Amino acid sequence: MSSTHSMPGANAWPMVRSILGDLKKAAAQIRDADIRSKVLDLQEHLVDMREYALELREENTRLRAQMDDRGRAVFRHGAYWFPDPEGELTGPFCRQCYDSVGLRTRLHEPTAQTPGRWVCPTCKMAYEKKTASTR
Ligand SMILES: [Zn+2]
Repeated sequence: MSSTHSMPGANAWPMVRSILGDLKKAAAQIRDADIRSKVLDLQEHLVDMREYALELREENTRLRAQMDDRGRAVFRHGAYWFPDPEGELTGPFCRQCYDSVGLRTRLHEPTAQTPGRWVCPTCKMAYEKKTASTR
């Protein structure tokens, strides 16, 4: 998806480096310490900006994957279920954990202490147990 979508600036770095190289040569020739140090400052800030852009790109990729995951979620019996590769729904997963931090937490089956209820091991939210096939 993102590979076919061309963004202006995504491939600007080689050009920026080439221009910086020219600037450094020019600054060396005119023997002006002030200009030389400004060019070095510029280089440092551009490198910072590039790192920042790469971090944003990584975060963007992660958020897109999260959105795709969200699009596959099925809301049933108050909890989330997700299709496995064969299309079978797996779950249930805690609604609260998923909505707040995007975490898929599998609910625990009822026990003697929690009869008839699924319970989230992380946030302790309880859900009335039903089966995935019941609508
Ligand atoms: Zn939870």
